[in-house]
Order: sequence, then C-alpha cells, then structure tokens
Amino acid sequence: MERAQQPVPAADTGPGEEIEQFDVLIIGAGVTGLYALYRLRERGLSVRVFEAGSGVGGTWYWNRYPGARFDSESYTYGYSFSEELLQEWDWQEHYAGQPETERYLNYMADKFDLRRDIRFHAHVTSVVWDEGADRWQVHLADGHRAWAQFVITAVGSLSAYYIPDFEGLDSFKGVWCHTGRWPAEGLDLAGKRVGVIGTGATGVQLITAIAKDVGHLTVFQRTANYCAPLRNAPIDPETQRQIKASYPEIFKRCSETAGSFVHQFDPRSALDVSPEERLEQYERLWAEPGFKKWLANFYDIMLPGPANEDYAAFVRQKIRERVKDPVVAEKLVPKDHMFGSKRLPCESGYYEVYNQDNVLLVDVREAPIERITPTGVKTRDAEYELDVLIFATGYDAVTGALTRIDIRGAGGQTLKDKFVAGPRTYMGIQSVGFPNLFTINAASVGNFVRAAEPLVDWVRDCICYVRDQQYTRIAPTPEAEAAWTRHVEEAGAKILRTQANSWFVGANIPGKARFLLTSPDSAPVMRAKRAEVASKGYAGFVLQ
Ligand SMILES: Cc1cc2nc3c(=O)[nH]c(=O)nc-3n(C[C@H](O)[C@H](O)[C@H](O)COP(=O)(O)OP(=O)(O)OC[C@H]3O[C@@H](n4cnc5c(N)ncnc54)[C@H](O)[C@@H]3O)c2cc1C
Repeated sequence: MERAQQPVPAADTGPGEEIEQFDVLIIGAGVTGLYALYRLRERGLSVRVFEAGSGVGGTWYWNRYPGARFDSESYTYGYSFSEELLQEWDWQEHYAGQPETERYLNYMADKFDLRRDIRFHAHVTSVVWDEGADRWQVHLADGHRAWAQFVITAVGSLSAYYIPDFEGLDSFKGVWCHTGRWPAEGLDLAGKRVGVIGTGATGVQLITAIAKDVGHLTVFQRTANYCAPLRNAPIDPETQRQIKASYPEIFKRCSETAGSFVHQFDPRSALDVSPEERLEQYERLWAEPGFKKWLANFYDIMLPGPANEDYAAFVRQKIRERVKDPVVAEKLVPKDHMFGSKRLPCESGYYEVYNQDNVLLVDVREAPIERITPTGVKTRDAEYELDVLIFATGYDAVTGALTRIDIRGAGGQTLKDKFVAGPRTYMGIQSVGFPNLFTINAASVGNFVRAAEPLVDWVRDCICYVRDQQYTRIAPTPEAEAAWTRHVEEAGAKILRTQANSWFVGANIPGKARFLLTSPDSAPVMRAKRAEVASKGYAGFVLQ
C-alpha cells in the first residue's frame, strides 16, 4: 500500500506555503530514475522524480541527433523485471536508434503508470541536508521546494554536456548546438555548410548520418578513434521469436560478463595461438555485429600489453583500407592511445564519408582552433565558413551532473568541494558527510540497464532496511570510503580505461582532477561486494 505524500508546513516557509515531503526523491527520469521509481513505489514508499526535461528517457530523450543509436544489442539493454514488458515489446533493430529507445521508455513509463510521480521541467539547483530533521531539502530552478528523507541522484553519467570555452562563440551568426541538446523539432542541414567538432562515439554516428545530405561538411578532429563496423540490421520475425523465448539465458549471460554485455571473452590469450589462427579469429569476429569483435575475442586484447597492441595494429589496417587518400587515412588512424582505452565507437560507413568530395577533415591537434568567428571557425592555419556548427564535444562525465547541483551535506560542505581531487565515495554509492544521498549515477557502468537494475535493487533494499530497523540515516564510515578510494586508484591504474586522456578519467574537462570515474571492478565483482556489505548489516556504513 502506497503512502500518501504529506505536505508539511516548515519553519522557513512563507505564509500559506506548504512543502511537499517524500520518503525518497529521485533526480532524473532516464532508465535509472524510472526503474528506481517503480521499485521504490512497489515497496510502498512515497516517491517523487524531478526531471529537468519535458519527457522521460534521459540520454534517449536529449540525444536526438541524426544517427544516435545503441551499440548495446537492443534486447540486452531493455528492462528485465517484467516478463510482460519483455514479451510485449518488439525491438525493431538489433541496435535501436534513439527514436525507438525513447518510444520504449515512454511505453514503459505508461505501462507502469510512472508519470503521476514525475515532475517535468523540474531542474534541481540545490540539495541541502537538514541536520536537525535528518532529511534533504531540494530546490528547483522555478522556486519549488520539497523535502525527502533519501535522495537518489539518477542524473546520468553522460548527461552534463560540455562545450569547450571557445572564444567568439557568441559572435557566430549561424546556428549551433550540442548533440546532447539537439532541438526536438530537428535541424535543417540539407545543402548547408556544416561543421562538426568532435569525433568520439557521438561524432562518428552523427557525421556518418549527415554527410550525404549536407552541402559541405568540415570535421574538426582532435583525436582519431578506433572505430569498428556496427553491422546493424532489422530483427526478423523468427529472430524476434527466439529472442523472446530466450530472455532468461540472455540476461544470465549478461550477468556473468565483466561489462554486463552478452559477449563472453575467449579464455585464450591472443599470444597462445599461431599468427594465422589469431588473424583468422580477428577477421571472423570483425565480420560480426557490435562489440563482439573485442568482447568475444581473446581476453587479453582488452588488457594493456602486447595482445592489445597486436589487435590495435589490425584495426589500424582496417581503417587504412577504407580511406582512399592515404594522407587523410593516416589522420584517421589512432596512434596516441591504446585500443579500448577510450570508449570504442561503432560505425556504419564512417570511414567512407572521407572519400566524399563534400567532406573535409581538419586535424585540430596539428592546427588548433583559435576562435569561433561570426562566419565559422578559425584554426591556426585557416578559416572555415559555416552555416551550422555542431559540438559533438561530449560530457563532464559521471561527476559533472552532480557537481552542477549545489549539494550541501553535514556542516555545509559541498559535494563539489569534496570531489575536487576526484570522487570520494564508498563503492560509488555514498559519500561521508552526505547521509541518505545515493549517488547511483557514479556507480553504474557497462551495458547500462543490466548494471543499473541490480544497483537500484540494492539501494532500495538498503533504504528499506534503514527504515525497517528504525534508523533515520545511513552514511559510509571514513575508513570504508578511504579504502574504496584507494582501491579505485590502485586497481584503476592497471586497467585500459585509465591509459588514455578520456572522459573515463576526467581528462576531457580542463581543470578536472585525473581520477577514474567508474569502478575498476567487473560487474559480477561489484554485485558480490555489495551483496556482502548488505549481508553484514551494511558493513562499512554507519546507521543512526
Ligand atoms: C549518445 C549516447 C549513446 C549511448 N549508448 C549506449 C549504449 O549503446 N549502451 C549503453 O549501455 N549505454 C549507452 N549510453 C550511456 C547512457 O547514458 C546509459 O545507457 C543510460 O541511458 C543512462 O541512464 P540514466 O538514467 O542513468 O541517466 P540519463 O539517461 O543520463 O538520465 C539522467 C536524467 O537526469 C536529468 N537530470 C540531470 N541533472 C538534473 C538536475 N539537476 N535536475 C533535474 N534533472 C536532472 C537529465 O535531464 C536526464 O534526463 C549512451 C550514452 C550516450 C550519450
């Protein structure tokens, strides 16, 4: 039985003002926030979601740029909690585009009647701990306020969009936007002179999708990435039937892999087989769709070392084969980072774009962008005239969406100050001095929904435990937080994700401390660690 929300008059309210009070406030209505709302409401808690956008979906609401799509297999990404939902929803493509995923999340929100507990256009500006009352006061940009005993930040790990501080942007007379804020009504690019800054996973999708329609495309590239063919296709009726019949096995397989994807590594080392056999496997998997090329390959391809270098050489050669002009090809071949140390983009004809007469690749590492002018972009060497300028410049990842909110914990300390040298948390979930605040956007990685579901379930059980045991607050011990932070640093130093200057370590944001922003552990290890903590009465946490 769900509890009714109770408006409570507060000491600091104006005449007649009542502030809504909830057991749990969730910030964000992406895949994580929606699931958290469903799970917490199921336990009879009063819950409200505050979402800055006008609809549900988070990433799949904001990223409307042409070409936006999964590189997770669609049917491995969807929610697993409802057999009915699994059987009702027909994924149309193996790697769904943004419109399909947004439709799916709207369908889910309607099916479980979630909207009645979501406030849209609700941009949270501050979250302040009330020491005496053991609760958080949450403020919205429009002046609205609410109280809650617990706050869950489902604010996303790639949601705080980032535009470099280019001089002169205000003077640009054309149209400009960031891919993560693509206008809902679309952008007319047909026949236009378009510039795209950024060639990460998003830039690669966008550039491929628009190159044929625009009049001229100038791509400003700082870092060449290792991209591999997605090989997307529609899901035919027989495959659809098989998928629906085998969801339990699909989810079981995902639960056993490091990144919660469906692909299992080959347990052999790339170096234990002959060069011929190694190449045969590389080629065979290259012809397969999605991430299988590396996540079902020799396990040590995804570890720093010689196997990784060998595979990187294979991918570089694949790039060279597709680009006609050898000078352009060399610019597109990554040479400054290890394969897999940055997020690996999948593509559907990306390299062939550079064989088109209307496409120009500008290497801004060679000749940096000096400023945006009223008519385009000026680099050290040239000026490029543009009608439309698109920033595919990524995100202030993981902590960005947290530190853009004024979160004040015990004693008035801000989370922004606390995270100045990198996130200080226990398992990414909580931070000392910020009781009852669950920073779940800092604790999930990999094939997202597979990782987010068990994490949200853990947080829900934790909240219910605190309440059932008549405690009012929970926060980590300083020792547990210090040990976890040390573990992230030490174990993180050995994995691929820390080897390049990428968003994984905050290196894309000037002034951001270099620190691994995700857990260094695999998904099964993280689940086991959390389960052990819970089974020991939330060891490493103080309950009061
Ligand atoms: C282009 C792109 C492609 C991706 N492809 C994949 C993929 O193939 N597979 C995969 O597993 N993952 C992928 N991801 C990662 C993706 O972010 C996750 O899969 C997932 O959508 C994250 O869900 P979330 O609910 O945790 O966060 P989000 O979807 O980011 O949602 C967070 C929500 O919080 C809201 N919010 C943030 N701050 C505030 C505030 N202060 N006040 C109010 N509301 C706020 C935002 O408006 C947003 O709606 C991709 C990400 C991007 C950007």
